[in-house]
Amino acid sequence: MKRIAVLTSGGDAPGMNAAIRAVVRGALYHKIQVYGIERGYEGLINGEIKEMNVSSVSDILQRGGTMLKTARSKRFMTPEGFQRAMDMLENFEIEGLVVIGGDGSFRGGLELTKAGITVMGLPGTIDNDLAYTDFTIGFDTAVNTVLSAIGNIRDTSSAHERSTVIEVMGRHCGDIALYAGLTGGAESILIPEEPVDINAICRKLIQGRNRGKLHNIIIRAEGVEISSQELAQVITDRTGMETKVVVLGYIQRGGSPTAGDRILASRMGYKAIELLMEDSTSKAIGVCGSEIISYDLETALNMTGKHNKSLMELADMLSI
Ligand code: ATP
Repeated sequence: MKRIAVLTSGGDAPGMNAAIRAVVRGALYHKIQVYGIERGYEGLINGEIKEMNVSSVSDILQRGGTMLKTARSKRFMTPEGFQRAMDMLENFEIEGLVVIGGDGSFRGGLELTKAGITVMGLPGTIDNDLAYTDFTIGFDTAVNTVLSAIGNIRDTSSAHERSTVIEVMGRHCGDIALYAGLTGGAESILIPEEPVDINAICRKLIQGRNRGKLHNIIIRAEGVEISSQELAQVITDRTGMETKVVVLGYIQRGGSPTAGDRILASRMGYKAIELLMEDSTSKAIGVCGSEIISYDLETALNMTGKHNKSLMELADMLSI
């Protein structure tokens, strides 16, 4: 393969830049010409395509966000927009495309595959909601951001002897809540994959208070059926404890990527180049244990059932 391109699409995630760098430098090392496409599929339609060299990706490894910018594109999902995107790939004689993004971006990649383009999907999303891979690029950084927020909130919660519901991102996948809750010692973790047991939450808070506990942290993923405000109200009503709500929001998306995310992004980005050099068919690249793995793109998108029940049980046991 002589000419490839890379784009970032959907929500941004820390480590996307490290992945772009690995793709660009990996390609150039093997004498493959590489283009950067700005603003995801929208930029592809608009021809926002520029050739990358070694210096194009200097000084980005440590930065959050994405130097290629990202976007969601409704036009790409129309026949006309899709054809324009295909025309652009043809104009620039691009044979392989590396797509860094989430589930939706991969589905876009699958459509391009059906039209004859080889696509390598790199999982760039803080949500960790792609079932085929243990971890996605950006997840570790987001968990660490939440962990640091838990530390700050714990200080003020203790001082005021109150409980706090911390709302984190995760509409369908509760992994940010689960991993941050476990590592941050939250009293309760609420995720969309499991039903909410209000009695158990209140019981734990009361038992903790009877032991002299000064604060309580309840982590709630945004996709959980009961809202944060409702939850805080129910806890206040049922336990008599003052309960505040903190919504962390977009701070979870930003920040310098952790070493873990930089390693993941670098390894996955280079794997994409290796596969393209082998003239592989379209693949989704992931990690399983310590191995970088790849699945057929469509197979990867059809995989389900990632929820780590045992980790949830462990968090519950350790937060008695
Ligand atoms: P995040 O996990 O951060 O939401 P994402 O990649 O899932 O990232 P989406 O907005 O779902 O984000 O998708 C990004 C873009 O991919 C869409 O704006 C659209 O252009 C394209 N896309 C999504 N789904 C499809 C589809 N079924 N067919 C073709 N293109 C799609």
